[in-house]
Amino acid sequence: MTEDVAEAGAGPIPLVDLRAQHASLREELGAAVASVFERGDFILGEDVSRFENELAAWLGVRHVVGVGSGTDALTLALTATGVGDGDEVIVPAMTFAATALAVTAVGATPVFADVDAQSLTLTARGVAEHVGPRTRAIIPVHLHGHPADMDAIGGVADAGDLVVIEDACQAHGARWRGRRVGGFGDAAAFSFYPGKNLGGWGDGGAVATSDDEIAESIRRARDYGRTDRYLHAVPGGRNSRLDSLQAAILRVKLRHLERWNQARCRLASLYTERLSGLPGVRLPPVHACASPVWHLYCLRVAEGRDELLATLHEAGIGAAIHYPRPLHLQPCFESLGLGPGAAPVAEQAARELISLPMFPEMSDEQLGTVVDVVRRGRRAYLGWGG
Ligand SMILES: *Cc1c(COP(=O)(O)O)cnc(C)c1O
Repeated sequence: MTEDVAEAGAGPIPLVDLRAQHASLREELGAAVASVFERGDFILGEDVSRFENELAAWLGVRHVVGVGSGTDALTLALTATGVGDGDEVIVPAMTFAATALAVTAVGATPVFADVDAQSLTLTARGVAEHVGPRTRAIIPVHLHGHPADMDAIGGVADAGDLVVIEDACQAHGARWRGRRVGGFGDAAAFSFYPGKNLGGWGDGGAVATSDDEIAESIRRARDYGRTDRYLHAVPGGRNSRLDSLQAAILRVKLRHLERWNQARCRLASLYTERLSGLPGVRLPPVHACASPVWHLYCLRVAEGRDELLATLHEAGIGAAIHYPRPLHLQPCFESLGLGPGAAPVAEQAARELISLPMFPEMSDEQLGTVVDVVRRGRRAYLGWGG
């Protein structure tokens, strides 16, 4: 995701516009930052524990533990649930690389399962196919803000006695059957990278869990494994704490998150209404049990995707591809020996996906411009009416 936000200022309509959001919160954020400055409790200060409690209540889980990033949240959750050397962890072939990099970080092996053709998330069948004697865990990813089928995944996990760690880095507030994601697995990872639905002013992340032991274990592990100031109880302790400053900013933003997610939903409905019926374009489907939070709004264009991307860029619209290469075809996972054909649904999605601008402050006029350019681009590509 890093590159998308960096590019955001370039065109008249960026993929994500963080400045628009910050402008509306200038005073609230200024006061939050000033209070950390005055207290000087920069590491594990008051705002960190307050934010953890507020986010836990919002998600409906017993504990939230703030950590250094979403990747660290996944890594620490894997370790805390006993996943490590020699274990296999099933992850979707279509996700951001960090999902699988966390698995290799603990010495385990990612096993890539193909995804559902509609939601692009894990399926019971896709997971079950890969369960073997060394499988220890499953990481369902709520991709683009659309929840994975947690009933299906829970079923496979129960049958095989597997750990479930949700990757909710793109899905703060998304619901499955009316319940917020982050409360379904043994633990869940959130990222507060600036471009996420809830983002800070730098890196940050959190693990959500209702398991007291997992929470306690991550609290220790993020802070050099210590149980007292200079008593270090656990091997593998490290330094991965959410900054007090980030927590102070996130506390302010959490109060607006529901409203922002609603704005994203409204924009998604507008896109869907105004782009429906366009030849050769599939709009993002929503599962009947899902309430997505539209981290991204992604079209599927089977033919002429790259031409449409070029047309949007020429018009100054920050469209992008999430993600152009499925994980089993990434150079860093080459040693697993998987080639094209190992996850055909993910591979096809990588060829067809295109993300349109999506951020809560996007105006109807901006959305109208994007829609017009998409329509014009398709007309030109398909050669009807110039
Ligand atoms: C952003 C993201 C991560 C990693 O979070 P960081 O805070 O950038 O480390 C992991 N998984 C998914 C699906 C993400 O989108």
